[in-house]
Amino acid sequence: MNYDVTIIGGGVIGCAIARELARYRLRVILLEKECEVGFGTSKSNSGIIHAGHHSATDTLKGRLEWAGNQKWDALCAALGFGFERIGELTVAFTPEERATLERLLISGRAKGVPGLEIWEPDRLRREEPNLSSDIVAALHAPTAGVVNPYEACFTLIESARANGVDVAVDYRVEALSRGGDGWTVTGTGPDVASRFVVNAAGIFADRVAAMAGVGTFRIHPRKGEEYLLDKRLRGFVKRVIFPLPTATSKGILVIPTFDGTLMVGPTAHETEDRSDITTTLPGSDEVFESVRRVVPGISERDCIAEFAGLRAAAEGEDFIIGPTAAKGFINVAGIQSPGLTAAPAIAEMVAGILENEGLKLTARDDFVAAVPPHVRFAALPLDEQVRLAGEDPRYGRIVCRCEHISERETVDAIQRGAHTLDGIKFRTRAGMGRCQGGFCSWRCMELLARERGVPITEITKRGGGSWVIRRRDDGDQP
Ligand SMILES: Cc1cc2nc3c(=O)[nH]c(=O)nc-3n(C[C@H](O)[C@H](O)[C@H](O)COP(=O)(O)OP(=O)(O)OC[C@H]3O[C@@H](n4cnc5c(N)ncnc54)[C@H](O)[C@@H]3O)c2cc1C
Repeated sequence: MNYDVTIIGGGVIGCAIARELARYRLRVILLEKECEVGFGTSKSNSGIIHAGHHSATDTLKGRLEWAGNQKWDALCAALGFGFERIGELTVAFTPEERATLERLLISGRAKGVPGLEIWEPDRLRREEPNLSSDIVAALHAPTAGVVNPYEACFTLIESARANGVDVAVDYRVEALSRGGDGWTVTGTGPDVASRFVVNAAGIFADRVAAMAGVGTFRIHPRKGEEYLLDKRLRGFVKRVIFPLPTATSKGILVIPTFDGTLMVGPTAHETEDRSDITTTLPGSDEVFESVRRVVPGISERDCIAEFAGLRAAAEGEDFIIGPTAAKGFINVAGIQSPGLTAAPAIAEMVAGILENEGLKLTARDDFVAAVPPHVRFAALPLDEQVRLAGEDPRYGRIVCRCEHISERETVDAIQRGAHTLDGIKFRTRAGMGRCQGGFCSWRCMELLARERGVPITEITKRGGGSWVIRRRDDGDQP
């Protein structure tokens, strides 16, 4: 089939663009090298919808941060992923730091970010009693929120698919060539022909641009380590807590996630290795030392899981979004933080760029904005849980004991696209609790094998060669 638009990369940016383009009468395909969308940087971040006042107004990321922030309520209402505006506090320890809060307040107000105010120590102690008593003031921004970023990717693409967008996973783009009125995309699947190509390849966006003959920028990945804490600390801190920002990072934060855990991080260190998502002892020490200064009651002993993500920083530190010298090839590159926040605004901007470049955008009259709601069994009142289990006994069979996830939710996740253990984990939370999958992994594997009709030896953690079990007679035994 000939497509109007090929999107390379199924992170939150590619998924948001796919869903935005699904509103129009277009033939669109998204190509993703991983086995599922969202498995790049978009699942390994702090999950914060930034308040809107952080980045400077004279940058693209500064403008798109606030524009994107305002679009998340409507998106969540349609797609039902986890999102809540819990607010944030940037804290100051000295009178000089307090002066920086004043500057942030003024620039945030100039941008039109509502509700910004400086809290003095008495208000701060009342609202957040577990913060350090050395803090002299904090800037409160009620527009900040937390989101389940992977859930957002999954539902964005589910919505795009339901409205006619094609998606090819396990498809690594390896070459691009231009001829006639468009592009031929070559990779690990059948060739794809399309008039326009949108490069949303995250930390590989410079390499994809080079394939199109417009490798005019370089991505220098910046690694961030994050540490998830036990649910025992639920409510210990109610808002996202920021130290003062530095030139390249918003600093090490305390984040009450949508699901009720606390998360601390991230670090910010340049790396040449685009596959390095390891966590390290120095990284852990850096995170917990920094966090203890702000919230003394937090300890590394509370850590139940850790991960790292790579920010796709470009020279100049701003987003690179726009057409290129290669006709029909659009870059959406350098999308470091606040890329998650900005994603819905970036998607609208890209649709506008495509239109300027000659793509006709005719609205579909059959566009369906919503996806069927997800049941979050653990969050329901007991009588509702009993009613559901009466209707479908699979709700009564608990697969994940830590997070209280039922067999029915797990099967729903598989039917909606999960075909790996991580696919289930990020859609349902099975495996995200205290025991980190010690109890439920086997059960999830059995359900995956049963629902997909494949042998259990084919089940992987996250695609590729990440098999979990293998046959004893596999021939490769010591
Ligand atoms: C530690 C950390 C914390 C962060 N916290 C926040 C936050 O709290 N709030 C916020 O707003 N932002 C945050 N960010 C930034 C945010 O995560 C990113 O801006 C966003 O996820 C970028 O999305 P993306 O779609 O551009 O990239 P990705 O999610 O990386 O998607 C790109 C996709 O392209 C695919 N791909 C690459 N090459 C090819 C190819 N050749 N063929 C096919 N597919 C290909 C990849 O597999 C990948 O899935 C954070 C980032 C990090 C690292």
